[in-house]
Amino acid sequence: MAPEEVHEQHDGFATQAIHVGQAPDPQTGAVSVPIYQTSTYAQPVEGGAGPYVYARSSNPTRAALEAALAALDGGAHALAFASGLGAASTVLLALATGDHVVCSDDVYGGIYRLLTKVFVRQGLQVDFVDVGDPDQVAAAIRPETKLVWLESPTNPLLKLADIAAISRLARARGVRTLVDNTFASPFFQRPLALGADLVLYSTTKYLGGHSDAVGGALVTSDPELYAQLKFLQNAVGAVPGPFDSWLILRGVKTLAHRMRAHEANAQAIARFLLEHPAVAEVFYPGLEQHPQHALSRRQMRGFGGIVSFRLRGGAAAARALVGRTRLFTFAVSLGGVESLIEIPATMTHASTADTPLAVPPDLVRLSVGIEDQDDLLADLQQALDGA
Ligand SMILES: *Cc1c(COP(=O)(O)O)cnc(C)c1O
Repeated sequence: MAPEEVHEQHDGFATQAIHVGQAPDPQTGAVSVPIYQTSTYAQPVEGGAGPYVYARSSNPTRAALEAALAALDGGAHALAFASGLGAASTVLLALATGDHVVCSDDVYGGIYRLLTKVFVRQGLQVDFVDVGDPDQVAAAIRPETKLVWLESPTNPLLKLADIAAISRLARARGVRTLVDNTFASPFFQRPLALGADLVLYSTTKYLGGHSDAVGGALVTSDPELYAQLKFLQNAVGAVPGPFDSWLILRGVKTLAHRMRAHEANAQAIARFLLEHPAVAEVFYPGLEQHPQHALSRRQMRGFGGIVSFRLRGGAAAARALVGRTRLFTFAVSLGGVESLIEIPATMTHASTADTPLAVPPDLVRLSVGIEDQDDLLADLQQALDGA
């Protein structure tokens, strides 16, 4: 797939990101959706309540964000949350004691912690399997299984799950499939079209895109699942405030353009790293060398902005490297316009230490930003040469 082919399939995406749910304000003509900073709404004494009663239940700024997010995933409904983990907790609260979840063994550290340290205590059963092999998912499904939890590409090793194959085999057994699509964003991957039931985002990352707000979202086209999750959104209360909803919505407007820029820079950096003598191994689905490159071309419309790599010099070389970059900021998180560098083993994935999910100590993860490509390459060059 040439980059032009990849992006041709996106007719309408950038337009929807700017317009769905975001018509000018009928009262004032404001073209930016107003921040409805209110907790409650005046109600007519006669004739029943309007659509807005209390802001945990609904808020017009949040509703605008939810409409836009649903459209970008080609879904019927979206729900916004205070964080990605708030969205994840709400999904898991739809399950009951004794229910079973089959989860990717290369999942975001916070999801692993949520499952094993919080929900297992509530009687949820979880098995972690290599979702790179659909047969392992099929083998792990049992009568109590209610949900298959996928992340693709995964964090931080950029492994892929065959979303269509797994959704199909799960559905045949009456099991729903959730895809954490935070890394790809809806611009590069649409899990609902591939057969998944539910899409989860940390909107803190690419959807917000400016490292200035924390948020989460769920998208689905299943009316029954939507009704259940909407009930829980209000009953549990992990909702975003109006200002954070507005910040995420503002970020969403430029998602298409940012994702193209993230990807172009990430492709160039992945190729540069492959050639560098200090680098032992590079993980990026856009490389022909990636073991699932063919699958990534099939189910993604682009390869994203995250690149991970291992260093020949081990953990000490990784620590030296992160101390030498000037443009890549040493920090957790990802998906913002600025480039970040981190060591998953001691930072984002510290909670998986001494577990089967532990990541190599010499692994470095880049969240490649949208700065000028030459500047990013020069920064990595000087840092690697000196480390
Ligand atoms: C950050 C992240 C989360 C958690 O989201 P928060 O907004 O930090 O709660 C979940 N999944 C993935 C893949 C993430 O990167």
